[in-house]
Amino acid sequence: MSTYFSHLECSVPCGAPAAAPHTRQHLCPCGAPLLARYDLVAAKKGWSRTSLASREPSMWRYRELMPLLAGETPVTLGEGWTPLIRARRLGSALGLSNLFIKDESLNPTNSFKARGLSAAVTRALHLGARILSIPTAGNAGNAMAAYAAQAGLEAKVFMPRDVKTPFVRECELYGAEVTLVDGLITDAGRVAAETGTPLGWYDVSTLKEPYRIEGKKTMGYEVAEQFAWELPDWIIYPTGGGTGMIGMWKAFAEMSALGWIDPVKRPKMVTVQASGCAPIVRAFEQGTEKATPWEDAHTVADGLRVPRAIGDFLVLRAVRESDGAAVAVDDADMVVGMRQMGHLEGVSAAPEGGAALHALRVLIQTGRIQPHERVVLFNTGGALKYLDVLEDH
Ligand SMILES: *Cc1c(COP(=O)(O)O)cnc(C)c1O
Repeated sequence: MSTYFSHLECSVPCGAPAAAPHTRQHLCPCGAPLLARYDLVAAKKGWSRTSLASREPSMWRYRELMPLLAGETPVTLGEGWTPLIRARRLGSALGLSNLFIKDESLNPTNSFKARGLSAAVTRALHLGARILSIPTAGNAGNAMAAYAAQAGLEAKVFMPRDVKTPFVRECELYGAEVTLVDGLITDAGRVAAETGTPLGWYDVSTLKEPYRIEGKKTMGYEVAEQFAWELPDWIIYPTGGGTGMIGMWKAFAEMSALGWIDPVKRPKMVTVQASGCAPIVRAFEQGTEKATPWEDAHTVADGLRVPRAIGDFLVLRAVRESDGAAVAVDDADMVVGMRQMGHLEGVSAAPEGGAALHALRVLIQTGRIQPHERVVLFNTGGALKYLDVLEDH
C-alpha cells in the first residue's frame, strides 16, 4: 500500500527547496518547522472517503495521507478513532444544545500525544534511527517510550525535575531512560540536544521533526468523519506547543483540497492556555505574528507549561484565519472543569481538558458562542496521572 506522501516543505514558507521524504530532516534550513506535503491532486482522483467505512478504528485509517512510503508499516498501539461523545448533561448545564467531547484520554498512554508519537516513531524507524530522544512535560515522553518499545528502539526522555511521579514511572515501565532536568521543558530541550546531538540521537521534540503534526492532524479528519463531513462551528483546544491546533488546521486544508468538506466553512479555532503560561494568548491579544517567551511559567497543567513554542506563528495564523479566540485559564478553574466533566459526563479529564471547559464557559458568558452552535471540546488527556492536583484543590 503506497501513500501520496511527496515531500517536505518549509512552514513559513521561506522558499528553500522541498526536501525528499526518504531523507532525515528535522527543521528547514531557515530554522522553521517543516510540513509533510502530499500529492493531493492524485489523491483526489485515486482515493475516495467511502473507502474509509471498512477501515481499522485507528488514525492509520487515513494512511494514504500519512507519512508512509511504499512497503512501510506503521508503529501502532491502536491510537486514534477516539469517541466523539454527545455531552447532553454538560451541554444543558452550559446552555448549549450541541456540545461534544472528543475524548483523547482513551488513547494509548492516556493522551493524544500517542497520535503524534506513533507517526514520528514510525518515520524514525523507517529512516534507520536506533536511539530516540525527547524533551517533554510528561505525556509526550510516555507516548514516545511506549512506541519506541513497540518498535524495538531505545528511548531517552528528558523531563523537568518537578514532573509528577506517574510520568516518570510510566516511562520506566516502557524501558526508557529518564533524565530529570532543573527548569522547564525548554531547559529539558537544551540538555537533550547537548547530550544527544553529538551522539546522533534522533530528536522527536514537538515541531522539530515534521511528523508529530501528521499524527495529530488525524484529530481533524476524525472530527470531520464522525460528523459525516460537516465540521463543527467551534473547536476548543488546550495549547502548549501547538501541534494539535496546527495539525487540525492542516487537515482541514487537505480535506478541502480533496473535496471532502465544504471549501469555505471552517470551525472557529480556540486556543486555551494557562494564566501562568500564556504566550500565545498574549500574542493574539497584542496582534503580533509571533509570541515572546513567557517568564516564570507555572501551572498544574504540565502540557500547557510551554513558555516558548517554535510553531507559535502557525497557531496564531490558524486562530486568526478561523476568526477564533484565545483564552487564558487559572489553575483553580481548570480543576473545577475536571470535576464538572467527571460529574456530568463520566469523562476523566486532565487539567488541560478542564481548562478547555472553562474557556468554553467564558466564551458563552461573553456571547461569543451561541446556544445552538455545534461545539467540540477536546479532552486531551486523562485525570489519573494528575491525582495530586485533585487532592490539592
Ligand atoms: C501536550 C499536551 C497538550 C498541549 O498539546 P500541543 O498540541 O502540544 O499544544 C495539551 N493537553 C495535554 C494533556 C498534553 O499532554
